[in-house]
Amino acid sequence: MDFQWDAEQRAFRDTVRSFLAENLPADWESLAHGPGSESQSAFSKTFCGALAKAGLLVPHWPKRWGGRDADAWTSFILAEEMWMAGEPRGGQYMNVNWIGPTLMRFGTEAQQDRYIPPIARGETIWCQGFSEPEAGSDLASLRTRAERCDGGYRLNGQKIWTSYAGHADTCFLLARTGIGKTGMSVFLVPMDTAGITVRQIPSVIGEGDIHEVFFDDVFVPADALLGAEGQAWEIARNALSLERVGIPRFALAARMLRRAVAALKKADRYGHGAVEQSARALAACEAARLYSYQIVDQRRHGTPTGPEASAARYATVMAERLVGEFVVEHCPDALAGGDPLLLAHHQRAIVAGIASGAAEIQLNLIATELLQLPREPR
Ligand SMILES: Cc1cc2nc3c(=O)[nH]c(=O)nc-3n(C[C@H](O)[C@H](O)[C@H](O)COP(=O)(O)OP(=O)(O)OC[C@H]3O[C@@H](n4cnc5c(N)ncnc54)[C@H](O)[C@@H]3O)c2cc1C
Repeated sequence: MDFQWDAEQRAFRDTVRSFLAENLPADWESLAHGPGSESQSAFSKTFCGALAKAGLLVPHWPKRWGGRDADAWTSFILAEEMWMAGEPRGGQYMNVNWIGPTLMRFGTEAQQDRYIPPIARGETIWCQGFSEPEAGSDLASLRTRAERCDGGYRLNGQKIWTSYAGHADTCFLLARTGIGKTGMSVFLVPMDTAGITVRQIPSVIGEGDIHEVFFDDVFVPADALLGAEGQAWEIARNALSLERVGIPRFALAARMLRRAVAALKKADRYGHGAVEQSARALAACEAARLYSYQIVDQRRHGTPTGPEASAARYATVMAERLVGEFVVEHCPDALAGGDPLLLAHHQRAIVAGIASGAAEIQLNLIATELLQLPREPR
């Protein structure tokens, strides 16, 4: 294995950095907006439109869909730079990471023609309707129903914690068409369909991020079904495997750690305890980076991603937590308003171990699938 970036990869990173320098507003870092806020959602369309024109929105996609078949390293370098810059793509990171690729794999030609080009042009926002009040970690117990009717389905039920729902054009919805895991199906639902109500949930992560979404007798035509009836478990697993290592949180965590350390040094407050704790946090960021790179390398070689993805995700959560603890302990003034960037990072880091699935579930997967530990007899 070669541990160096090659010249092409370094040049690509430089291109992305130059693009960011030219396209982010001068006061970008001091804007304390949530990723799903009104202003961020509007800005994401301008920004992603410009990324698309520069060939930097979906370089890893096939040429047919506006990409250039770039490898998994290219998309990860892009993701690292975007996340380090505060993710100016807003909710559209999901589109390019997993919604587009999932549509390419499971969609009909008509669904692909309808939904993929707007994603590749950076002009649409999606939301992910998986979690419900009684179905988060245990997704298989979801209760939102999709019942067949003349010409399509009627949807009834409730989703919760749905990011970006207030501005989304389309929902990637999981609903029940039968019993058990094989009784779940995916529907592509335009958010302006009659019977959908969206309520924002106030949260520390920022305005407009999470919502409740209610479906009251919502009609969708039969061609809103993605894949076959009952195929949702396979589709969702595939999507989540792309999402799990799609957000390089460790990169921003390491940047924020360096920022906090620099502030402490400047104030002559970087003492022995802080050095030790920051070293531990930095080591965790590096561990997360290397675990994630292992998955990217697997993707690059077309090897199916195994339970190592859970280790990468858990290492990333730990990196965020250790950096968070360091900042709380040594830079409380920054969190009290002294540094909007550190504060915004801290607020987003709090949810790292729950958004995209609880970290403890990853520990279960590491125990059973990676370490092959025996299950405790019931
Ligand atoms: C900021 C944010 C954004 C989100 N965005 C979306 C979104 O866009 N779309 C969407 O569908 N969902 C979204 N979610 C929901 C998220 O996926 C769920 O919160 C997550 O899957 C956990 O489910 P839950 O909240 O029901 O908690 P629960 O499943 O009730 O878990 C609560 C805690 O119980 C423990 N626990 C539960 N089960 C086990 C187990 N088997 N073994 C060990 N410990 C366990 C864990 O400690 C866990 O943290 C978002 C959540 C957040 C915080």
